[in-house]
Amino acid sequence: QAKRNGRNGMQFYDPAMQQALEAKAALESDLRRALEENGFVLYYQPQVDQDGRTIGAEVLIRWLHPQRGLVPPAEFIPLAEETGLIVPIGNWVVETACAQLKLWEGRAGLDDLQLAVNVSAPQFRQADFVAQVRRTLERYGLSPGRLKLELTESLVLDDIDDTIVKMQQLRESGVRFSMDDFGTGYSSLYYLTKLPFDQLKIDRSFVHNLGVTQNDAVIIQTIIGMAENLGIESLAEGVETEEQLGFLNAHGCNLYQGFLFGRPLPLEQFQARLQAFAQKRPDDGIHAAT
Ligand code: C2E
Ligand code: MG
Ligand code: MG
Ligand code: MG
Repeated sequence: QAKRNGRNGMQFYDPAMQQALEAKAALESDLRRALEENGFVLYYQPQVDQDGRTIGAEVLIRWLHPQRGLVPPAEFIPLAEETGLIVPIGNWVVETACAQLKLWEGRAGLDDLQLAVNVSAPQFRQADFVAQVRRTLERYGLSPGRLKLELTESLVLDDIDDTIVKMQQLRESGVRFSMDDFGTGYSSLYYLTKLPFDQLKIDRSFVHNLGVTQNDAVIIQTIIGMAENLGIESLAEGVETEEQLGFLNAHGCNLYQGFLFGRPLPLEQFQARLQAFAQKRPDDGIHAAT
């Protein structure tokens, strides 16, 4: 403290702080360059139903940094949100996911997959967010039900009126919605019934603690029950073990995502996996033995 603040509260030169600011500025200009030079890539993590059939994937962004290699979203999304760069980055994700859905049309094992896309608050709050998504869907001539937007509780609640209007408009166009990381925030039951969600996505922290703490089992059962009563899907994220799957399955969870079924994969590997299943089981589609 004494080092940083002068007598009158003015800041002295602080080399550590200076370095942090410079690193941040460098990261920001690298991010801008990545946007111009197509430096981002999407990974696809399978989402499976109770029969082990892959119904789609969540698309997860990575940054292919020229020096640092593959950078995970946790290391650049916060700065992208702070600087507003998340808006063009988010648009690129929606665009790329839609282009991919189009490319899969008519291809064995890939034809009716759905893609789930994460949406950040600054992106969702753009006045033209709804128009932007609609335009993209129209441009590719996609059936909108194949695109699912993942919104977090904090996004939903930070401007509930704007959220309701935009969700309803996109819902009318057929876009689907999932409540991401559900259970970690503060959404009230009241809002949950007002918002047109199609899916509650159980946060992976609860799944992780299954068998460790009794509370988490109770929370999971409660979320699955809520989804049932609302007439929407439940999806558990972060499923890593057969024990977790057994519990979730026994309690009626509809869909699963996690390392047990597959890590996020680059496009080629994700496609190869599904096409292999499609070839192995020509009569009954893409059932995966799990
Ligand atoms: P999320 O939306 O909750 O995504 C799930 C995260 O959990 C992913 O991390 C995924 O790799 C990880 N995960 C999935 N299954 C397992 C498992 O079985 N065990 C463990 N330990 N982890 C698992 P990832 O890809 O690092 O993404 C982190 C977060 O970054 C995402 O959390 C999401 O909030 C954000 N994110 C990713 N892609 C995008 C994007 O395109 N746009 C925006 N706005 N945010 C994104
Ligand atoms: Mg997500
Ligand atoms: Mg999540
Ligand atoms: Mg999460």
